[in-house]
Amino acid sequence: MERLYDRSSYEKEFTAVVTGCRETKERFAVTLDRTAFFPEGGGQPFDTGTLGNVTVLDVQEIGGEVIHYTDGPLEVGSRVRGVLDWERRFSHMQAHSGEHIITGCIHNRFGYDNVGFHMGKEEITIDFNGVMTEEELDQIEREANRVVFANLPIEVTVPDEETLKHMEYRSKKELTGNIRIATIPGVDVCACCGTHVARTGEVGLIKVLDMIHYKGGVRISLLCGEKALDCVRKRQKQIAELSVLLAAKRDDVVDAVRKLREEKQRLEGEVGRLHQAEAERKAASMPDSDGPVAVFDEMEPVQLRKYCTMLYEQGKGSIVLACSPKQNGGYSYVLGSSQSDMKAFSRKMNSRLEGKGGGSSLMAQGTFLADREKIESVFYQCAEEECDEFDR
Ligand SMILES: [Zn+2]
Repeated sequence: MERLYDRSSYEKEFTAVVTGCRETKERFAVTLDRTAFFPEGGGQPFDTGTLGNVTVLDVQEIGGEVIHYTDGPLEVGSRVRGVLDWERRFSHMQAHSGEHIITGCIHNRFGYDNVGFHMGKEEITIDFNGVMTEEELDQIEREANRVVFANLPIEVTVPDEETLKHMEYRSKKELTGNIRIATIPGVDVCACCGTHVARTGEVGLIKVLDMIHYKGGVRISLLCGEKALDCVRKRQKQIAELSVLLAAKRDDVVDAVRKLREEKQRLEGEVGRLHQAEAERKAASMPDSDGPVAVFDEMEPVQLRKYCTMLYEQGKGSIVLACSPKQNGGYSYVLGSSQSDMKAFSRKMNSRLEGKGGGSSLMAQGTFLADREKIESVFYQCAEEECDEFDR
């Protein structure tokens, strides 16, 4: 089988003879005497497109053969026209060449190796066996884009064994047979089976997105070409929207959010203090009691807990149940007592009120899926049972 992509990355259309076709898992595995469809490999995804009137869904290399998985059968011996989804393939070429540029820049500066490369749907990731700072990565990104601006040729060659032996290149492994070498003069020399653009200018923008620590080195994610442009556009739109929402200039959105967060924190503190005062006022207005007491009020969980504690600590009830209605029905509850075991008490109430939750002997909290009337009746009933047990 002739691999047209080995010779040139720019073969988008070709004719070939079908040498095999068999049905497999609702698809057809087609082989050809020649193909421009690149099979998944070396971090680069497979090509898609059409063969005659069927669609190529996947291309894999199995046992040295390129298998085209199609949605329909093709007659063995027939001549078919293959057409690549060029937008997809060109994007892969931009990404793959961009990866070589970034890796070359990092390798030259730090001596790190590319130990993992993946061209995903969303982004490209490259793993390196060493670390760098954000500032250093910023410089690498700029340097990589300057390689793009310089519009250097990307030469793909298959040197003979003797030449290879004395050649300095990345990914030098004990490989036999023909080894393709992709060279970007002054930037990178690497053994590679993938498809590349002819000149670095075609890569377009190289945009680094993120860097995380990974297996003792770093994982860098980036985008190239149109995908990088789309990403920058999207971010720009998001910033424009944020700017309107925050009533701040685009350059000032980060400061505006910081101020907003500070203001939110201040207000939360203020609200907390007001709620506390309100709870104290309510607690003070309640009569002292040595019986069980249930209160219903609209409160946040934190307040509810504080309120409940306040009530039983101030002697407003032997067992205090504080409930607040939940948005989707039912009630949040807090049970507090210094006399009875609230863990056991809440378990008992939960079982009768489709409740959930638990806690310590002093305090339990959770939710009840019942109405107020039912909760109250179960609470006083449970309290009475508690009393009976106590008497025995
Ligand atoms: Zn490569």
